[in-house]
Amino acid sequence: MSVICNTTSYNTDGVVGRMYPYYYDTFGNAKYDSTYVNIWDVTDVYGYELVMEEEFGDNNYFHQSTYAHEVGHALSLNHPASGSAIMRQGWDGVQYTVPQTLDKTNLKTKWGY
Ligand SMILES: [Zn+2]
Repeated sequence: MSVICNTTSYNTDGVVGRMYPYYYDTFGNAKYDSTYVNIWDVTDVYGYELVMEEEFGDNNYFHQSTYAHEVGHALSLNHPASGSAIMRQGWDGVQYTVPQTLDKTNLKTKWGY
């Protein structure tokens, strides 16, 4: 997994972070997995710093929360429908920087430990 702090490009969709999954083809080339299957060979996690600064200001707490959320996606975690979780999508007044009980439960369910 690579974590890229993108400080130069500005995406206009307001997304502050994104995870890109890849698999290796039979020739060993990394291919983007648009089907989002459960297990990937490699992932890239991007944080869009310019958007984060516009959305959150220069507050490291929110930046940490964004990267932790995207790393959760790299571990195949999805957005929960409800509950307190680092994997919750969007802004609900609380952004966590460490995995919550629901995140840990979902990790254990997904990976078995
Ligand atoms: Zn997400």
